[in-house]
Amino acid sequence: MPKEKNSGFIPYGRQWIDEDDIRAVARALSCDYLTQGPGVERFEEALAGYLGARFAVAVSSGTAALHLACLAVGVKDRLEAITTPITFAASANSAVYCGGKPVFADIEPHTFNINPDEIRKKITARAKAVIPVHFAGLACDMDAIRAIADERGLTVIEDACHALGAEYKDLKGKWHKAGSCAHSDLSIMSFHPVKHITTGEGGAILTNSPELYERLMLLRTHGITKKPDAFKNKAMAFDENGAPNPWYYEMQEAGFNYRLTDLQCALGISQLKKLDAFVARRRRIADIYSAAFKGIDLITPQAVSAGRVSSYHLYAVQIDFKRLGKSRARIMTELKEKGIGTQVHYIPVHLQPFYRERFGCKKGDFPVAEAYYEKALSLPMYPKMTDDDVRRVVQAVTGLLKVA
Ligand SMILES: *Cc1c(COP(=O)(O)O)cnc(C)c1O
Repeated sequence: MPKEKNSGFIPYGRQWIDEDDIRAVARALSCDYLTQGPGVERFEEALAGYLGARFAVAVSSGTAALHLACLAVGVKDRLEAITTPITFAASANSAVYCGGKPVFADIEPHTFNINPDEIRKKITARAKAVIPVHFAGLACDMDAIRAIADERGLTVIEDACHALGAEYKDLKGKWHKAGSCAHSDLSIMSFHPVKHITTGEGGAILTNSPELYERLMLLRTHGITKKPDAFKNKAMAFDENGAPNPWYYEMQEAGFNYRLTDLQCALGISQLKKLDAFVARRRRIADIYSAAFKGIDLITPQAVSAGRVSSYHLYAVQIDFKRLGKSRARIMTELKEKGIGTQVHYIPVHLQPFYRERFGCKKGDFPVAEAYYEKALSLPMYPKMTDDDVRRVVQAVTGLLKVA
């Protein structure tokens, strides 16, 4: 058994790998297929089953999943995909990969999620898709987003990379898992080690649409199909008796090698069994934090709206550094000296040099997101944190927040 490193340092996030996982990967290593074997389909079925979506396509990363999703729904030729500036760059980059144009819509001040009213304002005749991100594991207002998308003929791609295990209640009172595609055409998952479950690198696209599913499967594997009923060139594909030629395959578009391996899927299947326990532990940690910070007005955690159960990928807070009289950099350094890692999620994507230079984005474009950013800090959040670890973080943070 690998020894837990007991350095005493509490990072802002980390994976949980145990004996089961190691055994599962070791078993997969001695199987016949290391890349696309039976484990891939098993993982896809388990994932789709967990989320309650019809199809899952496992791919090599969340970023690859976003790329294929944008391609599959036809984001191209400067057509626009609307997303939030408070996300990982990949949510917006995915539109750029396909020749589309990312357009940002500002966030809500308390949930930090994309604001449906702002989406509405950003829709032009070139709008093709909207990519809501369930920030930190808190589901967006999917009823509102679906309604706007239907009204304006947009596709909804849910970036659920933060939200495996999160749930939300729709207007009819029915509960859904985030990423189940109940209110979206496609949803995206990431299995990077900092996310809820890991495959090393890895991702998936979920959908209820057989057409999108077929397209994604093709794009994942070089645009090549081996399915006789999909072949276009009948003369080359079939012999004179109409039987498919055994060597034949057909490349129908310029796809990619975005496969997830059997080894990784073995890890994914093993991790998925523990997901509910992981998420329960994250919620427990969030409860301890929230109780401890209640009544301290310098620190405000993300507001969990009614009808939402967060999966707490992050524990994101707003700290009024100005009023505190200490910079964020100084607070982060002081916490680090006490053995506590923190991070900022995220630098608004529209302020990145690439977006300023290519798309003319500038400071002031998204005032709510920019105000959020000034106060943003993510505290340690991962299932392996002990109650003692959580107490250490609470003590250190509340200690630093005492105005001198
Ligand atoms: C992690 C993440 C991604 C990208 O996932 P990778 O697996 O790292 O490529 C995309 N969007 C969001 C919101 C993420 O947090």
